[in-house]
Amino acid sequence: MSLQERDEKVIWHPYTQMKNALPNIPIVSGKGVYLYDESGKKYIDAVSSWWVNIHGHSHPHIAARVSAQLLTLEHVIFAGFTHEPAVLLAERLLPLIPGKQEKVFYSDNGSTAVEVALKMCLQYWVNTNTLPRTKILAFKDAYHGDTFGAMSVSGRSIFTKPFNSLLFDVEFIDLPNEHNIDQLRSRIDYLSNEVACFIFEPMVLGAGGMLMYQAKHLDQLIAACNKHGILTIADEVMTGFGRTGTYFSCEALESHPDIFCLSKGLTGGTMPLGVTTCNAKIYEAFFSDDKLKTLYHGHSFTANPISIAASLASLDILLEPQTLQNIQRICKRHTAFANQISGNDKLKDVRQTGTILVMEWNTGLDTSYLSEFRNKLYLYFLERGIILRPLGNIIYILPPYVITDEDLDYIYQTILQALNDL
Ligand SMILES: *Cc1c(COP(=O)(O)O)cnc(C)c1O
Repeated sequence: MSLQERDEKVIWHPYTQMKNALPNIPIVSGKGVYLYDESGKKYIDAVSSWWVNIHGHSHPHIAARVSAQLLTLEHVIFAGFTHEPAVLLAERLLPLIPGKQEKVFYSDNGSTAVEVALKMCLQYWVNTNTLPRTKILAFKDAYHGDTFGAMSVSGRSIFTKPFNSLLFDVEFIDLPNEHNIDQLRSRIDYLSNEVACFIFEPMVLGAGGMLMYQAKHLDQLIAACNKHGILTIADEVMTGFGRTGTYFSCEALESHPDIFCLSKGLTGGTMPLGVTTCNAKIYEAFFSDDKLKTLYHGHSFTANPISIAASLASLDILLEPQTLQNIQRICKRHTAFANQISGNDKLKDVRQTGTILVMEWNTGLDTSYLSEFRNKLYLYFLERGIILRPLGNIIYILPPYVITDEDLDYIYQTILQALNDL
């Protein structure tokens, strides 16, 4: 029996209707920007394996650090105990995050990092003995993860439909622009002290369709929140670690969010790990002789040393000058290509933030996530050895930073060809 057939017998894949799923391709190995299947066919991982991989696959430095950590300490309960990797990562990470972030709370993934952030904010209002605030402000097309809390603060969509009646109440606002910013600020003024916190993906909304908005408008929304004591959560799970051209997307802001959520690129894309950081204001609301003010939250694998070893190794690579040069090179190449194709009548929109280049196809047909055209696009690139996973009629390049100019050119050329053929 082939691996594909064995897979079909026992596996249920994520975000996949198993009945009519395209066969899942068995991947045998990965090196740099390439993934290799059983037949030896090579694929360019142009979406960084669901946005997690930043330094390429099977990176030797990360592998060496992880294997050394495995032979030293694989895991230890993180309540009552600590370890060097956990402390070191917090010491190295906190100064890199814009604003004055003081504490790191570890968890397992992006969704749990968001859950922790939400609980910090909601309990903040309980702990500070003011009138508890229970409303949360979020963007209409946001995506913050798939657990119930994270799903609640995400936009209502086909993904959340079966659960909508169970999701907690959220005030959804449109993405800000020149025209609606004053109206959005008035909305925040109007809600004022009902709102516990505002959670947002800074400047790029990922799963919601790679939608982009301006830093200056986010600054204005944060200022409106600050006026009413509304806490702010930057979900940098996707945008963090160089993705938008700087180490963190929020570097483009003048204001500083109270809380940051990190995951995906945190371990270089090698292991699950989530981090929620907060400033002194949040932390102090929990720091008390009163046991009821404790943040009673934790996961079995909180601060797993192996995942953290991967993160430390990934940070080493991220901070090398060569990596920043690669990021800037990708940004420039993307901009040049965007200029080349913008105005193409097959495209409704071309947009870019940092290393993310987005092309929205003008299909005139059904443009939803479920559309047939989506599969056509997906297969077109897959057949040509490029992994691009369209969000409906939207394709985007979000590559590991080690991608060469040659491979970028090949992707751009194939997109031009697709614009001709499809
Ligand atoms: C992917 C993502 C999450 C969820 O992370 P998981 O590790 O998949 O649970 C949360 N927020 C944003 C912005 C994301 O892109």
